[in-house]
Amino acid sequence: MNEVKKPKKPLIFYYGIAVLAVLLFNLLAMPRIAARQIKEVDYGTFMTMTEEKNIGQVDVQSNQILFTDKENKQIYKTGIMDDPGLVDRLHDSGAVFASEIIEEASPILSFLLTWILPMVIFIGLGQLLTRQFMKKAGGGSNSMMFNMGKSNAKVYVKSSNGIKFSDVAGEDEAKENLAEIVDYLHNPSKYSEIGASMPKGILLVGPPGTGKTMLAKAVAGEADVPFFSMSGSEFVEMFVGMGASKVRDLFKQAKEKAPCIVFIDEIDAIGGKRDGRISGNDEREQTLNQLLTEMDGFEGNTGVIILAATNRPETLDPALTRPGRFDRRVPVELPDLKGREAILRVHAKKIKVAPDVDFEHIARMASGASGAELANIVNEAALRAVRSGRKSATQADLEESIEVVIAGYQKKNAIMTDQEKMIVAYHEIGHALVAAKQTNSAPVQKITIVPRTSGALGYTLQVDEGNHYLMNKEEIENKIATFTGGRAAEEVAVGSVTTGASNDIEQATKLARAMITRYGMSEDFDMVALETVTNQYLGGDASLACSAETASEIDRQVVALVKRQHEKAKQIITENKDKLDQLAQYLYRNETITGEEFMNILNS
Ligand code: ADP
Repeated sequence: MNEVKKPKKPLIFYYGIAVLAVLLFNLLAMPRIAARQIKEVDYGTFMTMTEEKNIGQVDVQSNQILFTDKENKQIYKTGIMDDPGLVDRLHDSGAVFASEIIEEASPILSFLLTWILPMVIFIGLGQLLTRQFMKKAGGGSNSMMFNMGKSNAKVYVKSSNGIKFSDVAGEDEAKENLAEIVDYLHNPSKYSEIGASMPKGILLVGPPGTGKTMLAKAVAGEADVPFFSMSGSEFVEMFVGMGASKVRDLFKQAKEKAPCIVFIDEIDAIGGKRDGRISGNDEREQTLNQLLTEMDGFEGNTGVIILAATNRPETLDPALTRPGRFDRRVPVELPDLKGREAILRVHAKKIKVAPDVDFEHIARMASGASGAELANIVNEAALRAVRSGRKSATQADLEESIEVVIAGYQKKNAIMTDQEKMIVAYHEIGHALVAAKQTNSAPVQKITIVPRTSGALGYTLQVDEGNHYLMNKEEIENKIATFTGGRAAEEVAVGSVTTGASNDIEQATKLARAMITRYGMSEDFDMVALETVTNQYLGGDASLACSAETASEIDRQVVALVKRQHEKAKQIITENKDKLDQLAQYLYRNETITGEEFMNILNS
C-alpha cells in the first residue's frame, strides 16, 4: 500500500486542546457574560454613582434608565424619577449617552454563550476524540465509527515473500503432512472427483520458535495462493463484538480470494476453553463463536484452508478441535540433531562462514535449541565476527554464540574472588567427573567458570550422544547423581557447602519427582499417574492428583532417591579425588576446559 501516512498526534494532544479551550472560554467569556447580567438598583445608587463619576454608558428610556459602571463591567437598571438636572449631571460625570444598551438580547446571548457554545465545543471535541480512538482500536478504520469492526487488508499480509518448504529445515513430518494441502490447492478436482474434502482447519502444534509461521507461509508459497495472517490476540478487542466482526470480515475477504490460506497465530488467545465460569470476557467468547460459525459455514471445497498455530493445545476449547473444524493436528517439535544441523546450514547461507566450520558439532552443542534460537546463534556468530574484524564467522564464533544465546552473555568483568573461583571450578568439575564416570551419562563438551549474566557462575555443557526419545531408569538416576556432583565435590574438596548448588537442587528434585509421579519408576506406586501435566509445551506445569497422604509419601521417596544419588556422587568423587584436584586446578587456571582436554586429563 502506498498510502501516505499522516503523522499521528497522540490522544493526549487532543485532550490538551480541549482543556485549553475550556479554560480560555472560562477566562474570557464567562466573567463578562456573568457580569453583564442586569442588576436592578435604586435611584439613590444611580445618583451616587453619577456624583462619583462612575457611569460608563447611559440610556435613558421612557420607563427606565439603563447604565453601566465606569469600566463597563456591569449593567444596571433603575426606574425613572422626575429629575430635571439629570442629563446635565450625567454629562458632567462624563457618561456616554448610548442609544441602546443591549438588554433584550442579553439573556438569550448569555444563554447561548454559557450553555450552547460549550456544548457544541464538547460534542465536537468528543466526536473528534472518538474518531481518533476508533481509528486506533479498529486497526485503521477510515472514517465512520461503525467501520471499526472491519479488519482491512493492512492486517493481513499477502504472500509475496515466497517462502518454500525448502526454506524450512528439518520438520520433515510436518512438511509431509502439509504437502497434501499444497497438492489439493494445486489440483482440487483430483480430490473432489473422489468426493474427498480437505480438512478445513489444521492446527500446528509445538513450542515457540519451531517454524510454525514459516510452515504456514511455505504452504501458501508452494501453492502460490494468497496468505492471510492474523494473530489470535489481534481479534480480541476492547469493544465487545469487534473481534467477531473482524472474523467475519477476514472470512469474507478470504472467500473472495479463494483458494487461499488463512493463518491464525496464537489461536489460544481466542480459542481457550469456555469453562462455564462467568468469565467476564464476552468479547473472546463472541469471537470464538463467530470463528466456529464461519468454519461451519463454508464447505470443505471452497478452497479456503485455515491453518492455526498454538503452543498450548490442551487449553483449546474442544469445540475448536471437533471434526469439521481444526480436526487435523500437525506436531511441529523442537528439531533433532539432524534438524538442528539443517537449520544451521540454512541460516549459515545468509552469512559468510569459514569453510572449516563443523555444523554437526555445533548442532550437537546446541541440543534443545529451537529453530529461532539456532537462527539467532548464526546471526550472533556473524556479529561476533564483525566485532573482531574478521571476514567470516568461524567455528569459535559459532560456539561462543551458542553460549550467548543459550546461557546469556559472558560477564567479562564480573568480580569473583580467587577462592570463589576455585570453589566454582571444583563444583563444575564435580558435575563433569560424576557424569563421565557413570557409563550411561553424556560426556562433557565444555566446562567454563566465566560467569554468565544468567546468574550461573559456571556451567557444564553436556552433549547427548544422538537423540534420546527414551531414557531408562538408570540414565535418569545418573543424571540426578550428576546434578548432585557439584555439591559433592565441594563437600569432599572444600569441606563445606555453598549456595552455588541451588539450581542443581531444583533440577535434581524435579527429575526425582517426575520419576515417581510421572514415569512410574518407583516400586511403591508402580504405574499410577500421580500428577497431571497441564501445559505440555510451555515448561510442563504439573499438578498433583493424589491424596495428601500419598503426597507426603512421594516427598519422602523423592528425598530418599536424591539422597541415594548424592551418596553415589560423593563416592565417585572420593574415589577420584586426585583427578578432581588436577582437573579443578586446570579449570581454575584456564577458566575453560573442553571435553577433549577433560578426557585426556581424566584418562592420563
Ligand atoms: P513459530 O511460529 O513456531 O513461533 P516462526 O515460524 O515464527 O516460529 O520461526 C521464527 C524464526 O525462526 C523464523 O523466522 C526462522 O528464521 C527460524 N526458524 C524456525 N524454525 C525454522 C526451521 N525449521 N528452518 C529454518 N528456520 C527456522
